[in-house]
Amino acid sequence: MADLAIEGGKPVRKNPLPYGRQSVDEEDIQSVVAVLRSEWLTTGPKVGAFEEAFASAVGAPHAVAVSSGTAALHAAVYALGVGPGNEVIVPAMTFAATANCVVYQGGTLVFADVDRETLLIDPEQVEKKITSRTKAVIAVDYTGQPCDYDRLKALTDRRGIKLVADACHALGGAYKGHPVGALADLNTFSLHPVKHITTGEGGIITTHDATFAQRMRVFRNHGITSDHRQREASGGWHYEMVDLGYNYRLTDIQCALGLSQLRKLPGWIARRQEIARRYDAAFADLKTIKPLVVRPDVSHAYHLYVIALDPDRLRVKRDAVFAALRAEGIGVNVHYMPVHLHPFYRKRFGTGPGLCPVAEEAYEQIISLPIFPGMADDDVDDVIAAVRKVVTAYAV
Ligand SMILES: *Cc1c(COP(=O)(O)O)cnc(C)c1O
Repeated sequence: MADLAIEGGKPVRKNPLPYGRQSVDEEDIQSVVAVLRSEWLTTGPKVGAFEEAFASAVGAPHAVAVSSGTAALHAAVYALGVGPGNEVIVPAMTFAATANCVVYQGGTLVFADVDRETLLIDPEQVEKKITSRTKAVIAVDYTGQPCDYDRLKALTDRRGIKLVADACHALGGAYKGHPVGALADLNTFSLHPVKHITTGEGGIITTHDATFAQRMRVFRNHGITSDHRQREASGGWHYEMVDLGYNYRLTDIQCALGLSQLRKLPGWIARRQEIARRYDAAFADLKTIKPLVVRPDVSHAYHLYVIALDPDRLRVKRDAVFAALRAEGIGVNVHYMPVHLHPFYRKRFGTGPGLCPVAEEAYEQIISLPIFPGMADDDVDDVIAAVRKVVTAYAV
């Protein structure tokens, strides 16, 4: 067997492969250049055009573009009226921003544990955590697999609790034939370069509720009810700030890029799914690692491809496997340290180990492999070769 690169052997790759990377082509570049030559660099016609195209791509009537996925989450919990005294249930296995947005608004965070096989929020755990103060549940479509929205909606709807989908991983996915973006009361997306489509930084929220959409448009513009372009059109100067908002606007430069990127989404999703199928097939015979379970009623958007190590069949821990794969030139990553284990949450809210044991145990075992549409088949083969090489060398 070949020697591991971490022990001085020859690495599978010389040039490291990242875990995710944007695809930007000449058409994208030209669409941005055209805006730079135009009258409106921000709050112009591209914002509405991007919102309309995005809403129609996910089958929702309204989309509100904002400056990041984090701003999208903040706008969503604001639109729901989350504030002091309201509890919001959030899965432990997610990026910190999913929880931070509740803290921004002074709401009370309640962490729910995840399902062992999918690492998606566990509806049974959600039900246990619901109280008379629960205002909302934020479900996270972790890795790009939509959560069990039928079960979550059954739990929330009859109690008057709102459901937010943090769909930052899942643009282009579907649940029982319904596209992600039309599944929850509010659905949030990130347009960061590592996500499915990018505007550099950016975010967007989709909803069926016109009132929520209007509140979020005001929120992203300082809490002011009219924007610069609307005032120019009406010839007036007067405006009113009706609530405390932020400058969370997305520029026309960015929206032009978003429009151009959105056209390529179906092909990119197909490529992500194809890479995932190749990984699935290549790892099927390995006992040392297991990909996360994908339920049959979903179309997985594969923002991430996560494998779980079997600690009983390996003689080293996750961090050693991680370091060995990095040494082979594979840009593996870990998504995520459970939010309640971060120092801020421990200090501020006294959270810590034991609160969500399934997420905590999974965290010790997971590794994200590279997956992005620009990966060539040779790149996929390198990842497969490196994973097989490393886990075989470390197998008990
Ligand atoms: C990326 C991401 C966010 C935040 O998006 P930004 O655009 O980076 O602010 C929030 N939640 C999840 C699950 C994400 O993956």
